[in-house]
Amino acid sequence: MQKEVKNFEFHNPTKIVFGKDQIQSISNLIPKDKKILITYGGGSVQRFGTLDRVRKALADHTFGEFGGIEANPTFETCMRAVELIKNEQFDFILAVGGGSVIDGSKFIAAAAEFTGDPINIFAKGIGSGEAIKSALPLGTILTLPATGSEMNSGAVITFKEKKAKVGFGSPFVYPLFSILEPELTYTLPKRQLANGITDSFVHIIEQYLTYPVGGARVQDGFAESLLRTLIDIGPEVVKEDNHDYSIRADFMWTATLALNRLLSTGVPGDWSTHALGHEITALNHTDHARTLSAILPAVMMVRREQKFDKLVQYAENVWGITDGSTEVKVDTAILKTAAFLKSLDMPVTLKEIDVKSDDIDYLIEQLDIHGNTQISERGDQTLAVSRAIYEKALELEF
Ligand code: NAP
Ligand code: FE
Repeated sequence: MQKEVKNFEFHNPTKIVFGKDQIQSISNLIPKDKKILITYGGGSVQRFGTLDRVRKALADHTFGEFGGIEANPTFETCMRAVELIKNEQFDFILAVGGGSVIDGSKFIAAAAEFTGDPINIFAKGIGSGEAIKSALPLGTILTLPATGSEMNSGAVITFKEKKAKVGFGSPFVYPLFSILEPELTYTLPKRQLANGITDSFVHIIEQYLTYPVGGARVQDGFAESLLRTLIDIGPEVVKEDNHDYSIRADFMWTATLALNRLLSTGVPGDWSTHALGHEITALNHTDHARTLSAILPAVMMVRREQKFDKLVQYAENVWGITDGSTEVKVDTAILKTAAFLKSLDMPVTLKEIDVKSDDIDYLIEQLDIHGNTQISERGDQTLAVSRAIYEKALELEF
């Protein structure tokens, strides 16, 4: 087990352009000689006028459009965009949307330049895990704060027929820039706002709630501050008619900082809540964040012993629990975590997202196929432990 912070390099090349009326800056951020493919999702950016603002800002550029990237973007849809890029020689991608559009666009950017079969960009039961050597340049306009995809190098793609959701990562797919306009979140429905708060919350937890290591006060301090911010603003954010700029600005920047490597430098990460959650989305299409909230309390309970020291720190520094024994502090922190998620109308058990006990064998089989047999910060989360977590999440009542 790692006792002190590991050697690390930190380089995040994504330029963030944050604030009001920032979309217009794309006209200077993208070179005029580029042929841009604007990628977007199921139509929210058309409905709410964002796409029109983008078109206006690109009046002096050449561009085409590719819509229809679905929530939980599929390999098949993304490959249609790759074909379009190859046929029409686009050489810049501008993703306008949430994590799904940005993730899909990262894959499109990589696949368009990939020499072999793009399926091999994926490892673990799907392809051969070949490293990518280049990708088309990508910029993003974020419409949903949640995933951090706008400032990181990862993406998750769904294979519908195989009922699989698999990630890949490469320094080549960091966006060159991301536009963060908090006002773009005003059109989000409550469910997506709650999803965004929850996904960011769990990203921070997966990097923080491990075991203590020396020399990581900064990472811990950042994580605790971001978690407290989400706890403070969460109830205000989910009031969809509450168009408070300051609250939405805090929300957007927190979600980005939650997963841009700031918190993960030199320290262990867990990611088991994400691994277990992805299998549920692949099985029954539950929103990404709703699978996470349904798993997280069970992870804290089943892994309580391994995470005990950090759970005490979490109780004290995030929830401000000062009374009682360490055991009581941890119990209270877990209950408060579940209560916070519930207050956002997020599910906190598997029953609420329609997972049945009969599904658990399948979920475990899929974890096995995707190589998730020794996960968590200690690498000691075997399939038996993951089964115990799914079972706990199924039987829990809050
Ligand atoms: P999303 O799937 O991108 O979007 C969810 C829904 O919100 C879509 O129906 C979208 O509609 C709508 N929407 C987006 N912006 C909107 C706006 N401003 N107003 C109204 N509706 C809006 O949600 P997400 O949570 O951002 O992304 C989830 C995906 O990211 C999952 O596949 C997850 O696995 C992945 N993920 C990636 C990372 C990473 O680091 N790369 C981390 C965590 C999760 P339209 O389609 O019509 O636009
Ligand atoms: Fe996530």
